[in-house]
Amino acid sequence: MSSSPATAVLDRNGLDALVEALRAEGRTVVGPTVRDGAVVLDELTAAGQLPFGWGSEVEAGRYRLVPRADGAAFAHTAGPQSWKAFLHPQREKLWSADRAADGRVSFAAERPVRPSYAFLGVRPCDLRAIAVQDNVLTGGYYRDDGYRRRREGAFLIAAECTEPGATCFCVSMGSGPAAEAGFDLALTEIVDDAGHRFLVRVGSAAGEAVLSRVPRRVADEETASTARNAVDAARERMGRSMPPVDLRTLLGGTLEADRWDDVAARCLTCGNCTMVCPTCFCTTTEDVSDLTGDHAERWQRWDSCFDLDFSYLHGGPVRASARSRYRQWLTHKLSTWYDQFGSSGCVGCGRCITWCPVGIDITEEAAALHDELADRLRRQDAEETQR
Ligand code: SF4
Ligand code: SF4
Repeated sequence: MSSSPATAVLDRNGLDALVEALRAEGRTVVGPTVRDGAVVLDELTAAGQLPFGWGSEVEAGRYRLVPRADGAAFAHTAGPQSWKAFLHPQREKLWSADRAADGRVSFAAERPVRPSYAFLGVRPCDLRAIAVQDNVLTGGYYRDDGYRRRREGAFLIAAECTEPGATCFCVSMGSGPAAEAGFDLALTEIVDDAGHRFLVRVGSAAGEAVLSRVPRRVADEETASTARNAVDAARERMGRSMPPVDLRTLLGGTLEADRWDDVAARCLTCGNCTMVCPTCFCTTTEDVSDLTGDHAERWQRWDSCFDLDFSYLHGGPVRASARSRYRQWLTHKLSTWYDQFGSSGCVGCGRCITWCPVGIDITEEAAALHDELADRLRRQDAEETQR
């Protein structure tokens, strides 16, 4: 799917009508809303539940909601959740088994109803994250039929990024701030003297059909260029960046770096970074039974490579140290993900930086590894010259 030129402009009423049109199709509309001091993702019954007038301030290990005078709805950065909470839920029952009075055991596969989601306000970095999870979970070795069912019915409305946060680095990862592909509709929010409005681009036939049921006007040149300028300005204001090197090669060449000890001394191995990461997909299974033993269930739940049990083989965990677990996570994200899935496992959303309780910063770690490698290569060159 490729992005198309600007087609329409919605005002606030148009946004209300968009949510109504999606709900009238029987879709569960999910989008950002304010709850518990954060912008979270939840079901929306009306556009008025969007976080109008709220932004966020983020830093390593820090997140704060801040009021905005302009009343913008999509001027916040990534919150603690991502869309994987809906497409690849934290816990899911796979099957149950019952033993009858005659001792016979019957199994029943869990067949969840196929939800028809409409995700409203998907950031470009999160569009890329959904594409990464599609690649992992809809085919090949890690295929997950529950994910595929939920994903097939999902309608995606992107919200281009015009207010990057201090922990964002999507430009380094080529995943933002513009929405390029993977959406049904893409919005760019504009608040200026000409009013509060949303430029809309159509990305699919389904998007065109929904838009046709919403009051709108044809996009004027001024609104289109204001929207482009706002996204271009966001590109220049990214809070962070990755070192401009081949990260795949960098991580592959620094497995024995001293920096891993440094980060291991700070890392709590809490796994927060994996829980908030929109691409992390690892799960484990748990079997539970009732007290009689006549009813049992198998559940799938998110797992984390920071858990000791994650790499447990007979006799103990393969990755017993914090150094080995952090290295596994970062090396997989930025390097070996390419070997497995043909892309980076990082989309530059910054969540792992914001929600790390001790503020460990993936961009800082990559830069430190780069510096250490460059230093090592310089010393090797100098030694060879002296020989
Ligand atoms: S890097 Fe941060 S969030 Fe991730 S496991 Fe370590 S302390 Fe937890
Ligand atoms: S590794 Fe961090 S910045 Fe990259 S996608 Fe995951 S949470 Fe976002």
